[in-house]
Amino acid sequence: MPAPDVLIVGSIALDTIKTPFGKVKDALGGSAVYAAYAASFFCKPAIMGVVGKDFPKKHLKMLEARGIDTSAVEVSKGKTFRWEGFYDFDLNIAHTKKTELGVFKHFKPEVPETLRNTGFVFLGNISPKLQLSVLNQMEKKPELAVSDTMNYWICKDRKGVLEVVKKADMGLMNDGEARMLFRTGSLVKAAREILKLDSEFAVIKKGEHGCVLFTKDTHFAAPGYPLENVLDPTGAGDSFAGAFMGYLAKTRSLTEPNLRKAVVYGSTVASFAAEGFSLGNLRNKTFGDIESRYLQFRKIVEF
Ligand code: AMP
Repeated sequence: MPAPDVLIVGSIALDTIKTPFGKVKDALGGSAVYAAYAASFFCKPAIMGVVGKDFPKKHLKMLEARGIDTSAVEVSKGKTFRWEGFYDFDLNIAHTKKTELGVFKHFKPEVPETLRNTGFVFLGNISPKLQLSVLNQMEKKPELAVSDTMNYWICKDRKGVLEVVKKADMGLMNDGEARMLFRTGSLVKAAREILKLDSEFAVIKKGEHGCVLFTKDTHFAAPGYPLENVLDPTGAGDSFAGAFMGYLAKTRSLTEPNLRKAVVYGSTVASFAAEGFSLGNLRNKTFGDIESRYLQFRKIVEF
């Protein structure tokens, strides 16, 4: 079996979600799940996290059938992480009703030997302590380590979140989270703060409005794909991150022009994720669908 190209740690969840267009209960979700599935369009990901005994086996089987390495998913006594949220017509704002950490509360991640040399590491949204522990277990410095986070963790452990951003090569977060973490209204200032924390790159996601990539000297903005029918934006950010990492792990080039392409692939896969609940719409897509929307993106920004 080929070794995985990218290691993805984060939440593996059962989500209960309501949007103006429908609802789901205990649907498969979690930052690591969306990111790993999105990355699998490009390369072989490994997913790392913990689930409870109540986690339906069919979900892990589906990820395995997709070629995702699940050897670092622990099944532990207790309940799976659950998130309950809703959206109003402004789908950029997720309202959390309940977060139940369940088995994540006491999870002590142990990166299997076989994954300690993985070149690309995505520290998806989960407690900064877990993110740091995974990064510290890598045998050598990964080619690229990217971290994400969420308001929940910034409120609980801002220092920890800042430490993760400092250790990673690229900080990736939503506009709201960047403002909250760096206590500024300006996204440019927030990106500068990320870069000051020894990051080579910063990416700030702006929901349906796209995202911005900053390096020390350059700035690239990609629009959001103009979707008419967004059903549920949950996981779009994680899908962005997974596709971004997956494309870079496949091409193994961190030049600025290639990072721009990764941003557009990320935006493409994120747009598919938002067109359905859970992984529903992503699971219907082929790499050909991604390529053709990627090319449409190019036309959108041409002038
Ligand atoms: P996003 O891409 O930001 O929409 O991420 C959505 C996913 O994040 C959902 O599937 C949730 O299960 C997961 N999630 C929500 N809250 C948290 C949290 N505090 N820590 C980790 N994952 C979370």
